[in-house]
Amino acid sequence: MHPTDFTLRGARDALAEGILSSEELTRAHLDAIAALNPRLNAYLTVMEDGAIAAARASDERRRQGLAGPLEGLPLAIKDLFCTAGTRTTAGSRILGNFVPPYESTVTANLLRDGAVFLGKANLDEFAMGSSNTTSAFGPVENPWSRANDPDARLVPGGSSGGSAAAVAARLALGATATDTGGSIRQPAAFCGIAGIKPTYGRCSRFGIVAFASSLDQAGPVARTVEDCAILLRSMAGFDPRDSTCADVPVPDFQAACARGVKGLRIGVPKEYRLDGMPDEIEALWQQGLDWLRAGGAETVEISLPHTKYALPTYYIVAPAEASSNLARYDGVRFGLRVSEPGGDLRDLYDRTRAAGFGAEVKRRIMIGTYVLSAGYYDAYYLKAQKVRALIRRDFEEAWGKVDAIVTPATPSAAFGMDERQDDPVTMYLNDVFTVTANLAGLPGIAVPAGLDRQGLPLGLQVIGRAFDEETVFAVGNAIEDAAGFTALPGLRARPA
Ligand code: GLN
Repeated sequence: MHPTDFTLRGARDALAEGILSSEELTRAHLDAIAALNPRLNAYLTVMEDGAIAAARASDERRRQGLAGPLEGLPLAIKDLFCTAGTRTTAGSRILGNFVPPYESTVTANLLRDGAVFLGKANLDEFAMGSSNTTSAFGPVENPWSRANDPDARLVPGGSSGGSAAAVAARLALGATATDTGGSIRQPAAFCGIAGIKPTYGRCSRFGIVAFASSLDQAGPVARTVEDCAILLRSMAGFDPRDSTCADVPVPDFQAACARGVKGLRIGVPKEYRLDGMPDEIEALWQQGLDWLRAGGAETVEISLPHTKYALPTYYIVAPAEASSNLARYDGVRFGLRVSEPGGDLRDLYDRTRAAGFGAEVKRRIMIGTYVLSAGYYDAYYLKAQKVRALIRRDFEEAWGKVDAIVTPATPSAAFGMDERQDDPVTMYLNDVFTVTANLAGLPGIAVPAGLDRQGLPLGLQVIGRAFDEETVFAVGNAIEDAAGFTALPGLRARPA
């Protein structure tokens, strides 16, 4: 087997058995990146030398009997996580030359457990987007293509499009990602891989470039549900440097994958049946529910009545928090500085921010400052906070009746790079099934479950109770097993 074809779990076992070394595994991935990244643009920074050195050090630790849970496994890191000594851009010109002096907690946890970093993955600018087309460093291409139109270049989803494309194309065994409104689950679904947004507070936000702090959560993307479970266990855990990080034990998520669904009650929210949704997605959803019933679960129709307000609520709360978080990019402390001789401080701010931020980020800052302004705060921001509480309450009521909720992951398959770019509201509709979990702080996983008529992957989503990722993994794993998803994207690392 070619080293890039292993799952993370398979590579872990192969390393443990001495079938291959981390150096071989890492080199195979770096070769695949050299061959394919010029086309896919999934990595913004490739850490060739650092990765080889890290792999050798890992092989040495293994020889000494000091192998950690992720020993020697090569990963991609979304370029929103600060990596000490390695450029971290957030996909923005304003941070284009920023080299953090410190490591994010999540990446530090991965390094503690022996992981090897291959490089920093492309993303929408400041994680704002659903197609990875807002990156200041060019779009990412989805390694999948349409059967009847193979030349059309498709988006990988966003904002974690580089992470998802890298994993799907076998340019990494797994990757870190973040999800504020769907940025783990939507790109995972578009690229035919798995991705989990854990409960808000499960992973530390320390050292992750902030977008909307009450919604942002880190999580993994990988080719299987079990691989996500292995990665999340290392990423998660209490961190006193993030005051919203929860001091709760981190369970063995991998063990939970094999639990099965017997006796579980699966909620099917009727509000997730959208007008105009492709019938293939409805059919896949029903198929997924059939699989779970065959596994011994009971399905229950439920109502989450405030679902229709989730998207507008998200697009008030997220820009409001973003406008505040992004105020720190002033040309004084971080990254880009644009000034004119004789210009004053205000002039420095204006020029730096005008040159440093792209159009979507500027749109969010304008919406955010507008909804927070004195005259409109009550009408928009306060109202959105109240609706957010109602959305959370909808879920709380549902947990009295069901143990997990299953929905489609996205309302469509991956679309063309030139589609949906003119109208931001059409783009925002991508998140219709995912933003609710962020607003309520709940864990949600996307699992590849089938292909559409064009041969493109479609995903199902499992949402669970707060801090009950174990049930989410169990249900996700059952769907994955039943689906037997083995299709591969056209663009991927190939055996030499
Ligand atoms: N697509 C959503 C947005 O543009 C969500 C992004 C995310 O989860 N980071 O805001």
